[in-house]
Amino acid sequence: MTEEAAAPAPERQRVFFALWPDDRVASALDASARRIHAQTGGRLMRRDGLHLTLAFLGEQPAERVAALQRLAAALAAEAFELDLSCAGAWQRGRIVWGGPEVTPPALAELAAGLTDALRADGFEVERRPFAAHVTLVRNGRQPPPRAIDPPVRWPVRDFALMRSRLGAEGARYEVIGRWPLSSPAVDTLPVGRSDG
Ligand code: ATP
Ligand code: MG
Repeated sequence: MTEEAAAPAPERQRVFFALWPDDRVASALDASARRIHAQTGGRLMRRDGLHLTLAFLGEQPAERVAALQRLAAALAAEAFELDLSCAGAWQRGRIVWGGPEVTPPALAELAAGLTDALRADGFEVERRPFAAHVTLVRNGRQPPPRAIDPPVRWPVRDFALMRSRLGAEGARYEVIGRWPLSSPAVDTLPVGRSDG
């Protein structure tokens, strides 16, 4: 290490909140991505980078990353099941994605809750409405099938703050925080036998 006279520039990190799959779900997503890629061509996303972005923050200085971690820890949101059964493409195949037929309300609430908390804390976030998707292929040359078959069932139990390092072979990601989602409140009791 060399000593610099000037204070070092604050280290900035490219960060975003995401749902990050466990190994089982990542394998299922990867299998779907490969099937779709066989049809579309283009650049298959790496298995270990498959994710669903909740909110993108971009380059942030270290102290703002700490603020993001506090904000995430304070967020109350519920766990849910995510069924990825649809595929599609945006921007003439630049993004080929897998997504749910209908966004689960708990996912919409998680994304909105995050966005609200981020804005309240002075972060600039996407103004476009949230569109739940996992990018599977980039720069596809042919349209993808409309369905993911078999669908990928993703039990979502937590969310993560990710750091992204852009490189020649695409981005590499690192988990810099992970927070559990709470079990949904049970509002109906199972119908029991009245024998006890
Ligand atoms: P690469 O940029 O190398 O193709 P990447 O897009 O996966 O890889 P990042 O650019 O760091 O890596 O983006 C991380 C995640 O945030 C991705 O899911 C990306 O689609 C999403 N994202 C990036 N920029 C924005 C943006 N301006 N608004 C919303 N989401 C974004
Ligand atoms: Mg990008």
